[in-house]
Amino acid sequence: MKKPPLIILDPHYVVEYAKTNKRHRLSKKRKLNVNGKYVGKVPRMAICKKVGKDEFFLLHCNKKWEVVYAFDYFDALSLVEAKLLAESHYAGVDKNWIKTRYTEKQAKIYLRKQQEIIEKTKCSFCGSMQFDEGIQQIICSDIAFICNKCIVDFNQELNEEV
Ligand SMILES: [Zn+2]
Repeated sequence: MKKPPLIILDPHYVVEYAKTNKRHRLSKKRKLNVNGKYVGKVPRMAICKKVGKDEFFLLHCNKKWEVVYAFDYFDALSLVEAKLLAESHYAGVDKNWIKTRYTEKQAKIYLRKQQEIIEKTKCSFCGSMQFDEGIQQIICSDIAFICNKCIVDFNQELNEEV
């Protein structure tokens, strides 16, 4: 089985993971509804922990560790509760949990680096960042970054001046 990455869903890191097997059936009472579509049985599950907090949640994943369903993402669980929840979906899966070797420190460093990358690519003119509202693109040269909004604004100004 391919091991899960450190982070599947930022800012949580993976503490334990499990594979569902042929004997595990998705409980009918626990049908997973994603945008009105029912999701069938998933091959992988991961329990993630929020960095800096004792909050856990359960992720239903495909074999590539992409999220198929994030159950109770907004309701923090304890580790025990996350496992009970998984067990309520797939009876018997409780025995399959494997602890990752990832540490909270590793997760912190990783997330800080990601944050640095995002902050580094700030628009040099208005300070907008990649994921800010209305920002589709930030174009970089060797000395500066510029966002799509500023390009439009500068173009308008240039046209007005002519
Ligand atoms: Zn800008």
